[in-house]
Amino acid sequence: MYGAIATAGSALRLAAKLPLYRTFRRAGFPVLSPLAMSFVITDRCNSRCLTCNIGARYLDDPSVADGELSLDEYRRLFPRIGRPGWVTFSGGEPLLRPDFAAIVSELARVVRPQVINIPTNATLVERTLAAVARILDGLGRSQLVVNLSLDGVGAVHDRLRGFPGNFERVVAVFRGLRALGDPRLVVGVNSVLSRFNVQVSDALFDYVMDELAPDSYVLEVAQTRAEYHNLGQDLRGEREQLVRALDGFVRRTRRVSRHGVPRLVQAFREDYYAAARRGLRSPVTHRCYAGFATCTVLAHGEVWSNTARAESMGNVRDFELDFAALWRSPAARAVRERVVAAPCDCELSNASYSNRLMDFGSLPRLLWRYLRARQV
Ligand code: SF4
Repeated sequence: MYGAIATAGSALRLAAKLPLYRTFRRAGFPVLSPLAMSFVITDRCNSRCLTCNIGARYLDDPSVADGELSLDEYRRLFPRIGRPGWVTFSGGEPLLRPDFAAIVSELARVVRPQVINIPTNATLVERTLAAVARILDGLGRSQLVVNLSLDGVGAVHDRLRGFPGNFERVVAVFRGLRALGDPRLVVGVNSVLSRFNVQVSDALFDYVMDELAPDSYVLEVAQTRAEYHNLGQDLRGEREQLVRALDGFVRRTRRVSRHGVPRLVQAFREDYYAAARRGLRSPVTHRCYAGFATCTVLAHGEVWSNTARAESMGNVRDFELDFAALWRSPAARAVRERVVAAPCDCELSNASYSNRLMDFGSLPRLLWRYLRARQV
């Protein structure tokens, strides 16, 4: 009962803010802190995925991860970021940071967001289970979403991720997280669809839905971005194959009952998949709120409006870790002016949630998708 009241309260507070973000984008004021933030807390990664070169870059030259923001720096930074409702901690592989749980727990304590989202390659079984248990200890009422990457079944996944034995580890982490049995923990799976696995995507979807049955299952079409160090690569292959796979995925996931955060995510995702499907045919532009409602803080302190635009608003270290000062700086304002001036057709799923929330035309459609999703 308390949970329902708290969720309704958060939704109302959010609804009250939405017109202000529209004004912020149109007129430049009031300057509001972000609704959703991503922290790329490390450039370290132990995989050599075919769709992303972060791991290969680090494994070939580990010095790229020297000088990342420390736990102490995050302790000074978090009180200055406002109250984002959705916070993602990614990498690289975020669990490679020995202080990972301490960083997330610090944010949970100081910021108390509605949702903390952690994508992981699930290669570090014991470390992941111990870190999640520790985070849950100090989580309060936030929801913790842990999304395990899975791009194929068995040896297919291992080959795609360049990590022998990764598939078995994903299954072990999945089962271990489920065994924690904490209602605040959403155990999810995230798959990337590319020319390397589109032919076997049915087997992947069947395995995830029938064998694992995660609380949440989301799909991305492989993207080339500066963040992934894979610009210029051909990852997608034949368009019609991708569209068919995307349609099959939506049909399957729609049959499953969801509730709470996964149900909300599914409503946003269905809208996102519909746009991604259209985008496979020709670019779909949208009104972008990067730098207004969303941003990404990179491992060395740079703040990007988002990872598709890869435009720096400054480095928090140059502002003595006072994020609010950076957010109000002339450089941040200049980035925002460019966001408004240049139409965006990016396919960032997290950013798309905020963009849709701000688009009043999308709201009835989102509500319909949410209500239509069957509840357990
Ligand atoms: S997708 Fe994740 S696991 Fe794979 S190389 Fe990139 S950061 Fe590493």
